[in-house]
Amino acid sequence: MRIGTKLILWYSGLLAIVIVIFGVAVYSVMDYTLVAAVDDTLTQTADQVIRNSRVQRIGEFGAPDNTIIWLPRLDVFRASGVGVQVWDMSGDEPRLATSSINLDYEQPLDGASLGLDQPVSKDVIINGQALRVLTRPLVARGTLFANVQVVALLETVNDARERLLLIMLAFGALGILGSGILGMLLSRKALQPINQITAAASQIAKTDDLSTRLAWTGPVDELGRLTNVFNEMMERLQELFSVQQRFVADVSHELRTPLTAIRGNLDLIKRYGMDDLSLEAIESESERMSRMVNDLLLLARADYGGLTLDLEPIDLDTIILETHQEGRVLIKDRNLSLKLEAFEPIRINGNPDRIKQLVLNLLSNAIKFTPDGGTITLRLDRIGDKALIQVRDTGIGIDEKDLKHIFDRFYQADESRRRMGDSSGLGLSIAKWIAEAHHGTISVQSEVDKGSAFTVELPVLSDESVSHFEEKSDHRRRRMPNWLMPER
Ligand code: ADP
Repeated sequence: MRIGTKLILWYSGLLAIVIVIFGVAVYSVMDYTLVAAVDDTLTQTADQVIRNSRVQRIGEFGAPDNTIIWLPRLDVFRASGVGVQVWDMSGDEPRLATSSINLDYEQPLDGASLGLDQPVSKDVIINGQALRVLTRPLVARGTLFANVQVVALLETVNDARERLLLIMLAFGALGILGSGILGMLLSRKALQPINQITAAASQIAKTDDLSTRLAWTGPVDELGRLTNVFNEMMERLQELFSVQQRFVADVSHELRTPLTAIRGNLDLIKRYGMDDLSLEAIESESERMSRMVNDLLLLARADYGGLTLDLEPIDLDTIILETHQEGRVLIKDRNLSLKLEAFEPIRINGNPDRIKQLVLNLLSNAIKFTPDGGTITLRLDRIGDKALIQVRDTGIGIDEKDLKHIFDRFYQADESRRRMGDSSGLGLSIAKWIAEAHHGTISVQSEVDKGSAFTVELPVLSDESVSHFEEKSDHRRRRMPNWLMPER
């Protein structure tokens, strides 16, 4: 069932219940009030008759039970719409002692209530007419002598009841019908954007066109927000999809370059026989490919959460020293100077292999992008509860427009790419992942032709946590499995 239909049914059903409850309440109150007004008149009339009646016992020497009932003249009720009968109950059978002139009826108005010494009110039907009858006892010295029965037509009351019922039914039905129609129109209008969203979504599913957007001109209400969220989601999907496409294109491109070189060299060997130069080229290209595949595997595993780092308390200063040593080896064929500027003992909760990989990535970039004669500076400082590792160079620098992209996968600033051969554009993505996996950050400051400074900020291990870790350190000193490490 459609949401709109469900809403209308609920809404109209609830309205019908409210109308019925309200109608029953109004009807009962009105009925009670009208009948009470009739009963009031009947009671006053009966009171009047009883007040003006007198019972006299006669014959002091005769039969003591003989009584005379003196009754008022009942013609006064001629035009009042109320009739009165007085039934003498002193004999064996009830006897009509008198009745008002407007009443042409000689049977008891309410036979069943005669002889009762309590007032009784009843609805009766005589000759097809609805009547209200009040029977009151006439008692003297503890004995019931007569019953006064006062009657009024219920016609007016019944007319009012019928009219009210009719009006309530008509208005109730109209109200429910009207609200149903109005609800249908409103729900159609309100649900229209949802239908549009459904249509757009099914269009996307059919055509794979992620550029579809919803047009919304209404206010920023729930549906406006839904439309916005939908459009934002489409925007993001489109972006992710194009990133994925670019990623696949980049991977293929990057893998094709070393493959082409390998094939070219193999061709040469086939044609001219084995030579050392071709073999070396094949070796270095396949090493490059294998590094790239390892990097990709690492990032892919980090992406889907399948890679969590084993962290343990480590001395950052030792790692910086080691990377400094390795950096010196890397620059041995270059005219560069590598300085260890500041250096202090700092302990962090980290993974030594990954931290080393991070610093080496930064160092090898600095070496790659700094022309001969330049200087590369490495430093380790502690500022508050943060350890700062900085790799600074006096190299080619990074253009403003490239700065925000350099941590993206496969991103290589054009100029540097042209100059340097051995790059894949994955090094900084990995560095960023490692920093974040250590609850740290990585940032860069750079100026074209002046140089770049990469800063990694990592949380320092507090003294309490150090002692806590040291208790378990024996078995934790194990290093992380090496199988995932790029063979650098
Ligand atoms: P790769 O170095 O393999 O190209 P990275 O992800 O490490 O990939 O670096 C991405 C890009 O950032 C590099 O191609 C280069 O353009 C730029 N870059 C990184 N480090 C430096 C640096 N120290 N100086 C100048 N440019 C740099």
